[in-house]
Amino acid sequence: KENVPSDIEIAKSQVPKPIDVLANEIGIPAKDLELYGRNKAKVKLEVLDSLRHRKDGKYIVVAGITPTPLGEGKSTTTIGLAQALGAHLGKAAYACVRQPSQGPTFGIKGGAAGGGYSQVIPMDEFNLHLTGDIHATTAANNLLAAAISARYFHESTQTDKALFNRLCPPKKGVRTFAPIMFKRLEKLGITKTNPDELTEDEVSRFVRLDIDPTKISWHRVVDTNDRYLRSIVTGLGPAEQGKTLETGFDIAVASECMAVLALATSLGDMRDRLGRMVIGESRAGVPITCDDIGCTGSLAILMKDAIKPNLMQTLEGTPVFVHAGPFANIAHGNSSILADKIALKLAGVEEGETEDKNGYVITEAGFGADIGMEKFVNIKCRASGLKPNAVVLVATIRALKMHGGGPEVTPGKPLPEVYLNENLEILKAGCSNLARHIENAKKVGIKVIVAVNRFTNDTAAEIALVQEQALAAGADAAVPCNHWAEGGKGAIELGEAVIQACSEPNPFKFLYDIDLSIKDKIATIAREFYGAKDVSYSDVAEDQLKRFEEQGFGNMPICMAKTHLSFSHEPAQKGAPSGFTLPIREAKVAAGAGFIYPIVGTMSTMPGLATRPIFFDHILEDNGEIVGLS
Ligand code: ADP
Repeated sequence: KENVPSDIEIAKSQVPKPIDVLANEIGIPAKDLELYGRNKAKVKLEVLDSLRHRKDGKYIVVAGITPTPLGEGKSTTTIGLAQALGAHLGKAAYACVRQPSQGPTFGIKGGAAGGGYSQVIPMDEFNLHLTGDIHATTAANNLLAAAISARYFHESTQTDKALFNRLCPPKKGVRTFAPIMFKRLEKLGITKTNPDELTEDEVSRFVRLDIDPTKISWHRVVDTNDRYLRSIVTGLGPAEQGKTLETGFDIAVASECMAVLALATSLGDMRDRLGRMVIGESRAGVPITCDDIGCTGSLAILMKDAIKPNLMQTLEGTPVFVHAGPFANIAHGNSSILADKIALKLAGVEEGETEDKNGYVITEAGFGADIGMEKFVNIKCRASGLKPNAVVLVATIRALKMHGGGPEVTPGKPLPEVYLNENLEILKAGCSNLARHIENAKKVGIKVIVAVNRFTNDTAAEIALVQEQALAAGADAAVPCNHWAEGGKGAIELGEAVIQACSEPNPFKFLYDIDLSIKDKIATIAREFYGAKDVSYSDVAEDQLKRFEEQGFGNMPICMAKTHLSFSHEPAQKGAPSGFTLPIREAKVAAGAGFIYPIVGTMSTMPGLATRPIFFDHILEDNGEIVGLS
């Protein structure tokens, strides 16, 4: 490790190829490229039209074992593997990763550009604002939040007639409906197109969403770990006349707008999903949508550029799509369907070309495979219709030792002794965690390649033990890799294992049937993937799930908000816990993204800052050089 410079030093030592040159090399027409400076470009969705005739390349998802709070190198492995395939094994290779949130970048874990000699560059541009997609998503989310509060206030303080005069103001004596209002009229069963023909009762029903202030589920978002915003009261100013609202902030990447961005399959699909988002209920219990609030068009306009995937490159010049940023614990945790689709077409063969010309798309699913890969399979693949050829399951000796009883790994503190010296006993015990993840992947029929991400202190005997345990648990292959220290060269064996796995048939299937009840779907995930005995529901959650079923939202997949630090809801339960009861505290419906969102245990949708965040290490020199970003 002493010989490997810091992430930012390595990243700065390599001059990236101009991004338009790279785009040209991989076959993206100049007309489909929008440059954001020299190193980043957005790729227009029209590129899919010009590549329509191609078959898809091979599709590999990178997931991990249950991590320590430091991260076990999934992003690093995603990039290292793309470098191995693209720069050393002569294949077309694309990495698809998420844009990092400022939460971890300035909190504990650092950015998500990978590390060592396997990184996306320029890593500062990648880790900071990129092309503004998170800002756009935040703006859309918060416009809707502002619109909800304002509507609530205006309805609370105005008569039906006054509301009608303002919503449909007579211009030169003629009233008109704004186009989006027809969606609301349709929902109310009113077919009239002339506002002046509405009866008094119809006017009243039309102008009053009658938002129940205690049932507004739409939060504001900001891309900062800001614990003091978790629970707030708004509207305390005198002009709001006491119409205060209790609400909260989530971190921006947990916004449903971000999930919509990641799961949309076209611009129109994104717009329609934004319109379907449910923000709460009326006093009569009817779900109120973004369409009802009337700001779907504005949200779509705010996000129209964000939907285009961003092209960057690795240290070794292989292409990387960076798009969307959902966390895998409190969101669905996968990069965008559109980035994967574009990459798969670019990697795919032309009609008549032989299979060996096929390229590889390596996409990353966040955190442990119990959440990231589960959601990749049951949410993302269901929405995209794509099927993965293999999963690369990243394991580290340090995390496995932690699962075998090693002391807690605390960011910012030196690693305890057991992690620095060989200890086969603890390591073997901790392989229970790896085994459970392998078995889970097998349950959904995916080929499993275990990548042992090598750290400097790991011994040959330790690596051999993990390989042996992985194969015994049913992995199709288990290989050590050293791409952090060596770049793509260090992941050649992993690349070869991936090529082999992708040449074999793959009986991929979903974990659960979409037509099961919400509770049965939750129970299937809890039992089959987490090892739970049972699931319990708070009264609030019981009531919410019942209402979601009644409201017609029962037939969507599930996006569990659960800690990433354990299979269970308790971060301290390491290894492969079983026999526990998984508590569901509350649930939300994300009708635009298309999932039910149960919140497990004490999970918070707004992380907090620790006492010693990584920001203490960040320095900006007079000459603009950045120090300490990782
Ligand atoms: P994940 O995606 O699983 O959260 P990352 O790839 O972001 O993890 O890696 C977390 C941190 O660990 C990064 O700072 C990275 O540089 C570092 N890292 C990853 N692999 C290694 C390794 N083999 N040796 C040393 N540090 C590593």
